[in-house]
Amino acid sequence: MGEATSNCTQSVLEWMATEEYKEKNFARQALVVNPARTCQPFGAMLCALGIDGCLPFVHGSQGCAAYFRSCLTRHVREPVPLVSDSMTEDAAVFGGQANLIEGLKNAYATYKPAIMAIFSSCMAEVIGDDMKSFIGNARNQEAIPADFPIAFANTPSFTGSHITGFDNMLKGFLQSLADPRQGKWTNGRLYVVPGFDLYPANLREYRRLVTSMGIYMTMLPDPTEALDSPHTGEYKMYQPGTPMGELADALNASGFIFMQKYSTVGTRKFVENVQKITSEAVTMPIGIRNTDAFLMTLHEMTGKSIPAELEAERGRAVDAAIDAHQYIHGKRFAMYGDPDLLLGLVGFLLDMGGVPAHIVCSNGNEPFRKEMEALLASSPFGAHGKVYNGKDLWHLRSLLLTDPVDMLIGDSHGKQIAKDADIPMARIGYYLPDRVHLHRQPIVGYQGAINLITMIANIFIDEYDRNCPEERFEILR
Ligand code: SF4
Repeated sequence: MGEATSNCTQSVLEWMATEEYKEKNFARQALVVNPARTCQPFGAMLCALGIDGCLPFVHGSQGCAAYFRSCLTRHVREPVPLVSDSMTEDAAVFGGQANLIEGLKNAYATYKPAIMAIFSSCMAEVIGDDMKSFIGNARNQEAIPADFPIAFANTPSFTGSHITGFDNMLKGFLQSLADPRQGKWTNGRLYVVPGFDLYPANLREYRRLVTSMGIYMTMLPDPTEALDSPHTGEYKMYQPGTPMGELADALNASGFIFMQKYSTVGTRKFVENVQKITSEAVTMPIGIRNTDAFLMTLHEMTGKSIPAELEAERGRAVDAAIDAHQYIHGKRFAMYGDPDLLLGLVGFLLDMGGVPAHIVCSNGNEPFRKEMEALLASSPFGAHGKVYNGKDLWHLRSLLLTDPVDMLIGDSHGKQIAKDADIPMARIGYYLPDRVHLHRQPIVGYQGAINLITMIANIFIDEYDRNCPEERFEILR
């Protein structure tokens, strides 16, 4: 019996690696398996953590808050402050106003924040809670002082993803707490918007590159310290982030630069179209070419020149690319992640002669597809690349088994399919709970290019050492 079962299991596993199964897998409509994205409030939480003294507040159930906290804590290995108003079944029937007022009162009294950011879970959105009027009623009932600063955003989980939630919350901060623009006067600051990025090292890299050009900047939001705070032996609930004064003055910026396009769509429209502030959005500066474009955009926006130290740094990145080119050139890759990350990564791989084959973007849209296809068409190495919007990692598994590649690139959710396909994996992305400190190494800028080249080339070399015939096992590679 045991043998029959195991034979049966084996034949099913083999069938699941066929084109026939792939077709059935791609025809499925009603089920998502391992979607490589999460819901809007998660992104809103990240945004809120980047404002100085801000307590993120989920208008919804405790379970959602616990899930967001545990995901982020596992990625960055830091405690994450986040409260909820503990909506349960009765709130789902009668509305969540009583929870929100009581929750605000308790959170204000217990955790003494300088500001709170409220965003909704799907339960609150399904019943249509009106957060704006609830917050007004909380002030009227003196649950919080009348002038206590609160930003809020609707973050329905049944549409969009974590990047939409980040965008909605950021726009919510500007709409709720930024002072009106003072005509043509500017505060002389460039506002750098990192987008949904869980690598604090990337945020530090942006600050280093921008300030090395002598540009006066504010990062909005700035969760760097919340994601990577020093160990002092004392717990501090609030880490430094964007100062309230600089948030309030944001609409007087001399300009905005958005480091990601797809996680800031609504905020960009608000800044550019409604507030008429000079702004630019760049492709996430992953790889040498994208970093060049970022620095040139900074130069064009501010008139500041690129210092010699950055030119030298670029030279070192070019040298690293040349030294490691042979390990990446011609290799086929599959990858998944957020749209902005994928655009940066594919540009980087094409420059290295890598061949992006399967590009799965669970939260990709049509503008993303067009931009990615144009990028692939710009290089002979992109000729066989295909974009899969709205697909999940079980779709990607079928692609890996029917049309194999040399490496999978993505976050830790892909480790099982990499194992099934028996290929190595480079962990790059926004949920990395099974490896340490990757979020502490930048993947943007020239230093990020060197880090990516090093990581990917060495994984291939490790694989070769592990699998090569005895007579090819050598110290020299
Ligand atoms: S999908 Fe809804 S229930 Fe699930 S964590 Fe997100 S907000 Fe909470």
